[in-house]
Amino acid sequence: MEIMAMTGSGRKHVVVTGGAGFLGTNLCRRLLSEGHAVTCIDNFRTGGKDILLGLRELGTLEIIHQDITQPLHVENIDEIYNLACSASPVHYQADPVHTLKTCVQGSLNLLDMARASKARIFQASTSEVYGDPETHPQHEDYRGAVNPVGPRACYDEGKRCAETLFLNYFRQHKVRVKVGRIFNTYGPYMRLNDGRVVPNLIGQALRNRPLTIYGDGSQTRSFCYVDDLVEAMERFMATADDVAGPINMGNPVEITMLELADTIIELTGSRSRITFRPLPEDDPIRRCPDISRAREKLEWTPRTPLVDGLKRTIDYFDGTLTHKRHLPSK
Ligand code: NAD
Ligand code: UDP
Repeated sequence: MEIMAMTGSGRKHVVVTGGAGFLGTNLCRRLLSEGHAVTCIDNFRTGGKDILLGLRELGTLEIIHQDITQPLHVENIDEIYNLACSASPVHYQADPVHTLKTCVQGSLNLLDMARASKARIFQASTSEVYGDPETHPQHEDYRGAVNPVGPRACYDEGKRCAETLFLNYFRQHKVRVKVGRIFNTYGPYMRLNDGRVVPNLIGQALRNRPLTIYGDGSQTRSFCYVDDLVEAMERFMATADDVAGPINMGNPVEITMLELADTIIELTGSRSRITFRPLPEDDPIRRCPDISRAREKLEWTPRTPLVDGLKRTIDYFDGTLTHKRHLPSK
């Protein structure tokens, strides 16, 4: 399919890598509903094609089944969102060498594509670049405390290297890059078997099974609802060419995993109890974004309170489970 770049007309040709994943599906939906033509590139390792195919009724969506570590050939692009990379620790640690290649070789391929097309390019970086942080909340100037040889390093160091590549293409080749450090995000289109804490706990609560808490549950995260995050990504993409980032993107309301589990039990009305499992190696103890830069540069602040976002996410998973129960058995 030939899609022309449409800079100036308002309708853009946007490439979304990892478009079949959680954030990618939400972003593709938003872009299509705004009238843009979208090309999704995904290797479908963790993302699924079914929901994406359903989005085709919203507009022009091309789906390319490809790994971003392989040479990429898409032309006439206005914008690229590079979201390809499994984000759940369970999945990114399953093939750590491939995770590193995705972050490094994948980023190089996409930056070259952006350079050739003179396209803007957003990089989905992560709060993991701060590792197990020693300062709270984390500001972009903090350089982080990552264990370079631990089980999370394939992701953390891969994303750090990707940031270096993006900022060097910005300085050396004048590519219009946008590096966003995304903090824990949740919402519809997460998969039940994703392995991250929100889908795990909601899936367990809805089935009245024990909620698995790793460690003693006193570790914190700050959860951003996906619609707020997608809004921030689009705002960042629209900033002036000299705004390259990095910019923290997340909700600065910090919560312990035990508090999260209690809230989910209450909202689902579940009979589940809590069960404790060992804390994974290098699991960060505290995490909370300083979003003053996002407030200033993007004029953005997250709007969705955790309880509201969780209710919508619970409804989504409830629908997914109900649908599964009604599938004919093979
Ligand atoms: P996800 O795991 O749901 O989706 C990732 C998608 O990328 C999947 O569809 C997968 O099949 C695809 N993919 C993985 N490696 C690929 C490769 N080499 N080539 C092509 N496709 C590939 O993850 P997500 O939550 O949607 O996160 C999207 C991006 O945002 C990731 O880069 C992640 O690191 C970043 N991020 C997400 C969060 C979050 O809380 N969701 C936080 C920080 C950063
Ligand atoms: N976690 C948990 N139970 C689960 C899954 C995760 O207690 O079933 C914990 C995990 O150890 C971490 C926090 O929840 O402290 C967030 O984990 P997640 O995998 O969602 O994201 P990340 O560790 O990358 O922030």
